[in-house]
Amino acid sequence: MAITVVGSVALDTVETPFGKIEMGLGGAASHFSSSSSFFTKINLVGVVGSDFPQEHIEFFKSRDIDVEGLEIIEGGKSFFWAGRYDHDLNVAHTLDTQLNVFETFEPKLPDSYKSPNILFLANIHPNLQLHVAECAGKPGFIATDTMNLWIENEREALGRVIAITNLLTINEGEARLITKEYNLVKAAKKIQDMGPETVVIKRGEYGCLLFHGDKIFNAPAYPLENIFDPTGAGDSFAGGMMGYLDHCGEINYENLKTAVICGSAMASYQVEKFSNERIREINKEDIRRRFEEFEHLGSFETMRI
Ligand code: AMP
Repeated sequence: MAITVVGSVALDTVETPFGKIEMGLGGAASHFSSSSSFFTKINLVGVVGSDFPQEHIEFFKSRDIDVEGLEIIEGGKSFFWAGRYDHDLNVAHTLDTQLNVFETFEPKLPDSYKSPNILFLANIHPNLQLHVAECAGKPGFIATDTMNLWIENEREALGRVIAITNLLTINEGEARLITKEYNLVKAAKKIQDMGPETVVIKRGEYGCLLFHGDKIFNAPAYPLENIFDPTGAGDSFAGGMMGYLDHCGEINYENLKTAVICGSAMASYQVEKFSNERIREINKEDIRRRFEEFEHLGSFETMRI
């Protein structure tokens, strides 16, 4: 089993009330891969410039993330994102986005990446997501993430991506933006009508809602006392969720519920330090322990009256 993922691989400059990191490892596909590689094998499709530090590539390799599909453009500049969070850590303020080498990127998928069990279209321009989906042979399952920038500016292309998607992850603000529906249950139904049978609405520190057909599951977020940097929380959530599903081999409602808790556990580690620094420190035992804490958080006796 393996997941093929396409999305941004970036250098990020991020400022939070607790500090600043300049040109750290960023990008939706980087955070997704770092997280999901605990669960399964990852084939990474992306592009960077020659300014991309070799140590990040070595890190990917050390996690059994295949980088044959990560193109390096000699003399090119990597995707750059600068963002700031104020005290409401659920809201990212984008200060700068430079697509750089992504602007002209035409991904070529190695044969070993084609027809994967799961294709994850991490956040990037929807035309690029579509292109990779077209080149990917016959993926068993397509999961997709996106952001407000593409909802506002690339609505038509994004609609075509969503139409071929089996599972869409989206945060609550974006779900409202794309459906013009404030109520999240109604918003999820409208998104399901656009294509995906499964929709996961991420609600930051309030957890997430899983909609699968007509079933709904409400997952908590881990109640962390100190959230240091929320960048990449959505991507490591998706990494934990999809990684676990690939590991299971079968995508059904029961596995999906466990998978969103795996995703929540990974996201809770992601936000404890800048970039993926915390994810680099943890091991499978830490993930199991946090998963058990989630079980305790949500379990209670049946009411007797
Ligand atoms: P999130 O999980 O939503 O916090 O994603 C954060 C990551 O998204 C950062 O590491 C950024 O490099 C990346 N990012 C920001 N803007 C974009 C964009 N327009 N397209 C693709 N990736 C982006």
